[in-house]
Amino acid sequence: MSERPSSNDPFVAMVTARAEVDLKLSDFRPRSMLVRPTHEILKPKFPVIDYHNHLDAQEPREVLKIIDECGVERVINITMRTGDAGLEVIRKFHSVAPDRFSTYGWMDWSDVAQPGFFQRTLDRFERLVEHGICGMKIWKDLGTKVKDAHGQLLRIDDERLDPLYEKAAELHIPIMYHIADPDAFFLPIDATNERYEELAAHPEWSYHGSFYGKQELLAQRDRVIARHPKTIFVGAHVAEHPEDLAYVSHLLERNPNLHVDIGARCAELGRQPYTAREFFVKYADRILFGTDLIPEVGMYRLHYRFLETRDEYFEYPSHASRQGRWNIYGLFLPDDVLRKVYRENALRLLPRMP
Ligand SMILES: [Zn+2]
Repeated sequence: MSERPSSNDPFVAMVTARAEVDLKLSDFRPRSMLVRPTHEILKPKFPVIDYHNHLDAQEPREVLKIIDECGVERVINITMRTGDAGLEVIRKFHSVAPDRFSTYGWMDWSDVAQPGFFQRTLDRFERLVEHGICGMKIWKDLGTKVKDAHGQLLRIDDERLDPLYEKAAELHIPIMYHIADPDAFFLPIDATNERYEELAAHPEWSYHGSFYGKQELLAQRDRVIARHPKTIFVGAHVAEHPEDLAYVSHLLERNPNLHVDIGARCAELGRQPYTAREFFVKYADRILFGTDLIPEVGMYRLHYRFLETRDEYFEYPSHASRQGRWNIYGLFLPDDVLRKVYRENALRLLPRMP
């Protein structure tokens, strides 16, 4: 297993020794020997609104049991269904507990190549608003897959979509962008990719070789946000760039109409705790708590541990394939920051409740 040391000197031999191992990466599950206090937070310090989740497949009453147990006041379901199926999801949740569930609509691109699409999009949007949506999500298929009637990839900043953003401003309905993905998803899936195992589990998540690179996709999105200052935008997943919080800070500075959610990005934020804590404190009014994970008591509690404690080096909340081989550090956010991030910022973005 070991390679022969290249020197006869025992110290040089020791510090230069290396080994080639044939342990499979997926069998390697090291347990940390670090001894530090562990604080399990059963209930959050303040009520929580989960501003980013997907509940289409869940039973509302089952979700209620879970969120009651761990102090979640309301969950925003970003439905991934369109047309009548989308309306049915709204009914399913709002009829059980309108004070605990809200719904984001999903863009319907199914007939994008048919004449009249952009007007129809406006009509659909207004219909969804009449049925009580609290926001509209635009996903990463825009800019990577959606093609117009001429077979051209639709740009994120295509001006034919401007009336939608203007209508959203008029109706006070936020637009959530999930455009692009982690930087590593745009790189080859190879031994240098820090999300190798995640991409191996989901090769379809790779954008390596996409027509527009990540910087260009973000630039298109950023132009739209700047072009519609009266429209409220939510940049999902820390505006898709938690790897570079200086970029996100700059974006927030330039665009007072922008908020960001932290859905599925504890791993990114928690591996840079000094920078992330400063970011939360500085932009406390602009950051939304969101999970983007199947509702489970332990999942929510891990988020509270991340945001409330100063625990060190623990596992981040994640989907089964994990995001990368690192651990996170708690941010011990001050109470006024927690209150805003957990709930108050989301309340400001939600339509006035009936
Ligand atoms: Zn999501």
